Amino acid sequence: MEKYALVTGASRGIGRAVALRLAADGYNIIINYRSGQQAAEAVAAEIEKLGRKAVLMPFDVADGEAATSAVSQWLSENKETPIEVLVNNAGIRMDSVMAMMDAVSWHKVINTTLDGFFNVTQPILKKMQRLRYGRIINMASVSGLMGIAGQTNYSAAKAALIGATKALAKEVAPRGITVNAVAPGFIETDMTEELDHDELVKTIPAGRFGTPDEVAHLVSFLASPNAGYITGQAITINGGLY
Ligand code: NAP
Repeated sequence: MEKYALVTGASRGIGRAVALRLAADGYNIIINYRSGQQAAEAVAAEIEKLGRKAVLMPFDVADGEAATSAVSQWLSENKETPIEVLVNNAGIRMDSVMAMMDAVSWHKVINTTLDGFFNVTQPILKKMQRLRYGRIINMASVSGLMGIAGQTNYSAAKAALIGATKALAKEVAPRGITVNAVAPGFIETDMTEELDHDELVKTIPAGRFGTPDEVAHLVSFLASPNAGYITGQAITINGGLY
C-alpha cells in the first residue's frame, strides 16, 4: 500500500528538508505551502527524483475552511491511501516588544501556529485512528520553552502548541498514534536570515546555527515505526542553547 506524509510549510526551510527526508524514507509527500508555488514545484521535482510521488496542496493553514476543504477532499478521493505522517511545520514570526506589538502581529502568529495545528490535524485524525497508526510531529521552538524577549506572540503560540501536543498524545496513544513536538533553536532558514548571526552565535554553545537537515533527521526518527514509544514529548534541537 502507498503511504503518504503531509508536511505543512514544505516549500522552504525546515519543511522542505523534512519533506525530502521523509521522501528518502519511502513516503510520498503532500506539500502544503501558502504562496510560494515555484519553490513548492521545485521541492516536488526533487521528491520525484527520489522515486516518490509529490502532491501540491496550497492553502493557508490559518484558514479553517480552506484547510478542512483541501485535506478532506484529498482524503475522500484517496480512501485506500493513508496519511501516516503529519508534520505541522508552517509557522511565521512577527517580532516586536510587547509594548509596541499590534493586534495583527499577535493574532497572525498565534493563528498560523495554533489554529494551523487544529485546522490540519483535526480532519486527519479520524482516519489515522481507524488505521490504528499515525505519527504527528508539531514544529514548536525553544522560544515556547524558554521565552524570548520580543517574541511574546511567538513564544505563546509555540508553548500552546506544546500543550496541545501533550494533550492530544494522551487522547490517541491507545490507537497507536504518537504526537510529539520538535523545538529547534536557531536554524539557518529565511526566517532567521535577518537576525544578527554574529551576536546570536555567542549564545549558542555549539557555536553555530543548526541546519534544516539536522532538524529533518530528528523528525524522520520521530516519524518512524521505531519511535512508537515516544509520545507527548517536546524534543529540543538547539546546539546546547537551552
Ligand atoms: P521559513 O523558511 O520562513 O518557511 C516557512 C514555510 O512555511 C514556507 O514554506 C511557507 O510557505 C510556509 N508558511 C508560512 N505561513 C503559512 C501558512 N499560513 N500556511 C501555509 N504555509 C505557510 O521558516 P522555517 O525557518 O523553515 O520554519 C519552519 C517552522 O520551524 C516554523 O514553524 C518555525 O516557527 C519553526 N522554527 C524555526 C526556527 C528557525 O530558526 N528557523 C526555529 C524554531 C522553530 P510560503 O513560502 O508559501 O509562504
